[in-house]
Amino acid sequence: MKKRVFSGFRPTGKQHIGNYLGTIQNCVSLQQEYDCIYCVVDIHALTTLENTTELQEDIHEMVLDWLAAGIDPEKSILFVQSHVPQVTELHTLFSMVTPLNWLLRVPTFKEKVKMQPQNVNYGLVGYPVLMTADIALYKGEVVPVGEDQLPHLELAREIVRRFNHLFGPVFPEPQAKLTQFPLIMGLDGANKMSKSYNNHIEIASSPQQILERVMTAVTDPARRYRSDPGHPEICNIFSLHKFFTPDRVDEIASDCRRAKIGCVECKKLLAANIASNLEPFREKKAALTATPNYVTEVLADGATRAEAIAKETIREVKQKMKLL
Ligand code: SF4
Repeated sequence: MKKRVFSGFRPTGKQHIGNYLGTIQNCVSLQQEYDCIYCVVDIHALTTLENTTELQEDIHEMVLDWLAAGIDPEKSILFVQSHVPQVTELHTLFSMVTPLNWLLRVPTFKEKVKMQPQNVNYGLVGYPVLMTADIALYKGEVVPVGEDQLPHLELAREIVRRFNHLFGPVFPEPQAKLTQFPLIMGLDGANKMSKSYNNHIEIASSPQQILERVMTAVTDPARRYRSDPGHPEICNIFSLHKFFTPDRVDEIASDCRRAKIGCVECKKLLAANIASNLEPFREKKAALTATPNYVTEVLADGATRAEAIAKETIREVKQKMKLL
């Protein structure tokens, strides 16, 4: 029997190349080996989101991109966190076994307090408890995480361990699947690719839009003239070539260092390769978009399947806690 993976993602709307090369491709490949549950964590988003006007659209666009990129709703359960209300029930029950000082010492809580001093809400401090409920409700055994998320997972393990110790075994302790998510720099060359920096390329962009975005990218500042030798190791266009032109990276690096290739030519090559790499995605997205209510139906089916597991877990939890 395959182990169960649980992973949650904030709704971030249309996905960009950074999302695609990191999280999405990883989730697609995990489907081969694991029984995967992928959750759009809309309740978590509320801890930092004060304006929810675009929330539904962001969920829809993100899920559509994920489906077009290869998340298979026949293999995996894909659903929205708030569509399975049992998660808030388990969050409340877990909050009774989680010492407050465990939560107050979480580094990301302290960071969030600094980032949004005007909105230090209860949800921020309880975030790791809700995250634990997300995983435990579906008895997630494996959680793909980057190194920076390991402390959160360790806290989740402590919470379920404490529950199991106090009331009897119900939950597996989730194991980290440490994943090296590539750091994809944005077109500004200074920050991680992100919508908030407007330094991204959406994966659904047309070839012309990709070209226009790539042409705006910052490259090696030492190359002021075509004849200046370049330093590909500090150029974000070169780092994208590693993903989209893998069989020619040595040649590009060498040509850049000897000024045999100009940045315009180098960017055009990259844009063409991104566009051709993403062509199957664009075609699939167009086909899915033509199917009325496709995303809504996938999410409804995902919620039904997730809720069946959730109800069983909550019944077990309540029995152990003598609430039934
Ligand atoms: Fe970057 Fe390519 Fe220009 Fe070299 S030639 S600096 S790798 S864009």
